Amino acid sequence: MKRTQLFTKTLKEAPSDEVAKNAQLLIRAGYIHKEMAGVYSFLPLGLKTLDKVVEIIRQEMNLVGGNEVEMSTLQNKQLWELTDRWDDKNVDNWFKTKFANGSDTGLGITHEEPITNMMKNFVNSYKDLPSYPYQFQTKYRNEKRAKSGLMRGKEFLMKDLYSLSRTQQEHEEFYEKISEAYAKVFERFGLGDITYKTFASGGIFAKYSHEFQTVSEVGEDTIFVHKAKNIAINQEVYNEEVLADLGVFKDELVEMRAVEVGNIFSLGTKFSGPLELNFTDEKGNKKPVIMGSYGIGPSRMVGLLAEHFADDKGLIWPVNVAPFSVYLASVGDVAGTADSLYNDLQAVGIEVLYDDRDVRAGDKFADADLMGMPYRIVISERSVEQGSVELKQRVDDSVELVSLDTIVDKLKVVLEAIE
Ligand code: ATP
Ligand code: MG
Repeated sequence: MKRTQLFTKTLKEAPSDEVAKNAQLLIRAGYIHKEMAGVYSFLPLGLKTLDKVVEIIRQEMNLVGGNEVEMSTLQNKQLWELTDRWDDKNVDNWFKTKFANGSDTGLGITHEEPITNMMKNFVNSYKDLPSYPYQFQTKYRNEKRAKSGLMRGKEFLMKDLYSLSRTQQEHEEFYEKISEAYAKVFERFGLGDITYKTFASGGIFAKYSHEFQTVSEVGEDTIFVHKAKNIAINQEVYNEEVLADLGVFKDELVEMRAVEVGNIFSLGTKFSGPLELNFTDEKGNKKPVIMGSYGIGPSRMVGLLAEHFADDKGLIWPVNVAPFSVYLASVGDVAGTADSLYNDLQAVGIEVLYDDRDVRAGDKFADADLMGMPYRIVISERSVEQGSVELKQRVDDSVELVSLDTIVDKLKVVLEAIE
């Protein structure tokens, strides 16, 4: 994409009402637009990063047998009454509204009830199971503390997968499998070494659930980390009994702040019971389906990545989630050479943001740093005379001269090695 075709502009200062670093940076760099507190729109660059985050999650969910769907936002109140989750006394963050005929509806906060109800149409016998529907869907929650930018939206994207199993054992096997898939997802985001599978409260049907918590000073959660065992305990359940269960000792644990990036939950028959999602087993007995739910917040992920991969000049995207791999800046009267390099890079599948604007070199460099593409290429009159370009990585300051003849191949090799 050419900068002259991109309508967004960078800002020197963040809006004064925005307190979260992730939103400040993403607004300044033109990735998101703030509509209201806790409500953001994704602009072209932000959408590209969000799409990459989504695609990584999608690939891993498909590998464990996920079936992608997209459920409706508007909710059927009757279903939520069956599980006692409609009343504001029980769930206090609904956005509720009414249909033209005066009857109630609400915007989906999560989708256990509708998915359980929908799956009744497709699950009759043990042969129809297991099944793993999932979606990327916008959730609406009337969050009270919306001071964390994209990390706590009132409207946010969630990946929610639901497992439908025949037996507790089949459920537990899948729970382990998706837990590994989650670890892979966070590794692909470059957060593997600071993301811990964290023991959290399990509800009625399991002693524990697990959260995936990424260590961050701006996190809203407190966790106790066991580095050697690569696990953590959420403060909510931090007590003698849990320590004994896990075979760990207080003095081996380090207290840290963290952001919940995902969670996995055993639901048992909590939803299949009241909503009557049953199947007939091999012996002809009718049984409730054993369920689990598994969330990841892709929009929270974008916020956390921006928060984590940044310096005082701006964003520093890992290649996997960068909207473009390369920021190509032309300096001086070099449009011909720069245009053809832009075309050559794209021809081999390299994603390039080409700064073809007629502005000062310093402005182009400042934008390249703020927007955070992993590689910057500068073509200037002097470099063209030498038959070369300047190549620089966003993560460090050293500049390398690379010949115009080899730059495309060189970058292609480097970028392919990262995938
Ligand atoms: P939290 O404890 O942070 O409020 P939660 O336990 O309510 O989150 P779930 O309902 O399990 O979260 O949602 C699944 C995932 O969706 C979370 O792990 C998180 O990544 C993401 N998520 C939850 N709430 C928000 C929000 N308000 N804004 C952005 N992402 C969110
Ligand atoms: Mg939580």
